[in-house]
Amino acid sequence: ANSTSTTTQPTPMMAQYLALKAEAQDCLLFYRMGDFFELFFDDAKMAAATLDIALTSRGEHGGEPIPMCGVPAHSAESYLARLIKGGHRVAIAEQTESPAEAKARGGKTLVARAIVRYVTAGTLTEETLLDSRRDNMLVALAQTGGEGELGLAAADISTGRFETMTVRAGDLPAELARLRPSEVVIAEGSTLEVANSHPFDKAAFSSTRAEEALKRLFAVATLDGFGQFSRAELAAMGGLISYLDHAGKGTLPFLAPPLRKTSGAHVAIDAATRESLEIVSTTGGTRAGSLLGAVDRTVTGAGARLLAQDLSAPLMDAPLIDARLGLVQLFHDDATLRSQLRTALRALPDIGRALGRVAVGRGSPRDLGQLRDGLGEARLLRERLGRLADQPLLLTQLLPALDGHGALVDALARALVPSPPTETNNGGYIADGFDPALDELRRLAGDGRRAIAALEAQYREQTGISALKIRHNGVLGYHVEVPARAADQLMQPDSGFTHRQTLAGVVRFNSIDLHEQAGRVAQAGAHALVAEAAHLETLIDAVLDRKADIARAADALARLDVAAALAERAAEGGWQRPHFVVEDGVGPCLDIVGGRHPVVEDALRAQGQPFVANDCRLVATDRLWLVTGPNMGGKSTFLRQNALIVILAQAGAFVPAESATLTLVDRLFSRVGASDNLARGRSTFMVEMVETAAILAQATEHSFVILDEVGRGTSTYDGLALAWAVVEAVHEVNRCRCLFATHYHELTRLSETLDALSLHHVRAREWKGDLVLLHELAEGPADRSYGLAVARLAGLPTLVLKRAKDVLGRLEAGKAKTGGIAAGLDDLPLFASVATQAEEVIDPLREALEGIDADALSPREALDHIYRLKQLA
Ligand code: ADP
Repeated sequence: ANSTSTTTQPTPMMAQYLALKAEAQDCLLFYRMGDFFELFFDDAKMAAATLDIALTSRGEHGGEPIPMCGVPAHSAESYLARLIKGGHRVAIAEQTESPAEAKARGGKTLVARAIVRYVTAGTLTEETLLDSRRDNMLVALAQTGGEGELGLAAADISTGRFETMTVRAGDLPAELARLRPSEVVIAEGSTLEVANSHPFDKAAFSSTRAEEALKRLFAVATLDGFGQFSRAELAAMGGLISYLDHAGKGTLPFLAPPLRKTSGAHVAIDAATRESLEIVSTTGGTRAGSLLGAVDRTVTGAGARLLAQDLSAPLMDAPLIDARLGLVQLFHDDATLRSQLRTALRALPDIGRALGRVAVGRGSPRDLGQLRDGLGEARLLRERLGRLADQPLLLTQLLPALDGHGALVDALARALVPSPPTETNNGGYIADGFDPALDELRRLAGDGRRAIAALEAQYREQTGISALKIRHNGVLGYHVEVPARAADQLMQPDSGFTHRQTLAGVVRFNSIDLHEQAGRVAQAGAHALVAEAAHLETLIDAVLDRKADIARAADALARLDVAAALAERAAEGGWQRPHFVVEDGVGPCLDIVGGRHPVVEDALRAQGQPFVANDCRLVATDRLWLVTGPNMGGKSTFLRQNALIVILAQAGAFVPAESATLTLVDRLFSRVGASDNLARGRSTFMVEMVETAAILAQATEHSFVILDEVGRGTSTYDGLALAWAVVEAVHEVNRCRCLFATHYHELTRLSETLDALSLHHVRAREWKGDLVLLHELAEGPADRSYGLAVARLAGLPTLVLKRAKDVLGRLEAGKAKTGGIAAGLDDLPLFASVATQAEEVIDPLREALEGIDADALSPREALDHIYRLKQLA
């Protein structure tokens, strides 16, 4: 019935637009129109809202006006940045021919357009779109692994970092929390549930196709040199590479050979622990206030990115850790060397990211200049550091990577001007004297320009018009311009000038001589541009020939920056080198003397207050500390500082303590009782219990666990009961090193039955009716809870406090009469005996036997059962 609207034919332009849009349905389409990118329909509405720009309309489609908005092409990057941040994906459709070419092609003048690139959060290389101090990871996940196993591939295409691993489905959240990807790609139709993941061509996630793609990418006949990859890992890498190929429309970025990570190489830290310890960002999402924020003294973007990686993945390999510590020690002990190195590094351009841009074909002369300066400086550093008498192991491994770029640096130095521009349109980036032919073209152009300047003087004299000027613009090229009142003279037929244009106030002319000279300038200029572009191409090829070596140099410089920065931080705060010991029969230990919390200490210092250092000594025979004491007494801070010290130590950093001696920690857990996490808005007690269950299932004798007020998210009785059982299980089953903070005073009775548990408290004192929190850890249980005193400290009205005191008095009287909340616990059987009972209950043989109804069996079935039972026995 309403056929009128559907029969309206779209204009040719709209038809082209709709065809392009069909290729990029999940993206906002940037459609190039001259100097603008324009967006239409819903794209326009969304972009206008995100960018806060005007939404207008252009023409009609199906009888309706077409919503439209546009952004200038020359400043498109800043708009792209905001759209990507806003969670959008963008497809860029460029004009792929000039209007002249289109005309030449045939009668219709519609310029051909094609999508040249997809811009997504994980495929950025532009300096302006990236955070220089943070990795920008793209992750691909493949499900082809065995039962419950996944292949994971991760890359930062702005630097070429590329890694892969096999993860158990249950560990995926932890790995994603470590990598913090900007974008996750999964196969279309995949059942994986990952937030913000983007489905992509299923066929790309094939291990056989991937193997071929990888061999092509790295130009090798076999992947054996990179390690043995599982099918799932290959599939994930295949998905990742295909996706990059798609996003770049066939231009692949630089990727270093894939590094295969094994799950045992790093301390296992799950997502909840990362969040609770605020390792690289706070719960509020900021870097400031996190461990990284308090530690980071790096002076380069690459160093900052590497430090974040290190803290996100502390090592499990004592020699590797020691190698890192050795380098920190060198720079720690030699302050002059450190400051010289840091001064040199500070001036260093980000060569890793410059290389990334060059590799995807978006490299500018400026990027080449950065590579020249960065690699040149690397060579100088190599010389300086190579002269050191005592070289720690890691330094001898890093130094060779800094060298070997001499020929490239020399070539770049000879070819480029000192500070090359980002734009190539106007040329001027190839140095004088590099290419005689180019010099000659420039001389010709220069001569032409000088001749034009001479013409200006000559015409002024000849006409007597002192305001006469020779100007240049994009439309007319060179022309003579005079004020309107003087124009009559030049308008005369025999004046030698031809009229071109009349504007308000001025009139413009051409002349034969000017035309000739302008032609010379333009021709020589165009030839010079072509010559420069050819040189640029050669230089880019020379860079790409050495891309793997350049990436290695960039990594080595980042490592030096991290080591010097950690040394600087240590010197600033009096931090010490941690020592790792082997267990040797005595079992795991964690012995921290005078430990401090780097973030809390910084915050207190800003207020002019001192931080009270505390010891933590966990050994096999005293491995579980129960910490009690008033709220605000410093329990959480103490727990966390020890976890943070473990992270720093195993990341290869000095630690905020007088000394730290420890055995390697394989898994680190931190759990905070529910009410602290209310802001997360989940069923908090449920979350708390799920997270606690994970600890009980995974913590080993070598793990370190901090539990802060676990059980407080529910009623007093439930909470106490759960906390009680959790402490017992951690002590008896997991046998890990553990700090457990609680306000359940009743738990202190556990010290009677659990021999590796000891009691500690944060000290407080009431002085003249005021509560003084000493933040000092002492042995034994807290003498009382000071809850009301803390409430007074917090400014609760006197009336309320007085009333609370009355209520408390009555409660305590009742408690004395009945024996209190823990009254029934005296004859509780030992945890060990319960544990054996629990095992009996789930004895499979017994279960199977109980499931048999003997009366209902045929002899044949009975025989089958006997076989089955024998198998279970
Ligand atoms: P709790 O967990 O016992 O309630 P917190 O660890 O949250 O207490 O500490 C509360 C506040 O006390 C911190 O924000 C900090 O200002 C201060 N504090 C904690 N530990 C120390 C310390 N060792 N030295 C100085 N001040 C501390």
